[in-house]
Amino acid sequence: MKMNEKDTADHAGNQDWIKVVCPHCGYEMPIFCGKNAVAEDLHVRCKARHCKRFFEIHIEN
Ligand SMILES: [Zn+2]
Repeated sequence: MKMNEKDTADHAGNQDWIKVVCPHCGYEMPIFCGKNAVAEDLHVRCKARHCKRFFEIHIEN
């Protein structure tokens, strides 16, 4: 099924934004994932310009 021309930001029935904070610089990054998502050993790259280091995310439910 198709959504209206609405922003994808809140199309989520079963999905959610979570925030991860870079341990190196404190930069907050939103992550869009399923509400039941569980993550281990997942790495993202910090988007802060002066940082750009990888760090690990843990998502628990
Ligand atoms: Zn950072």
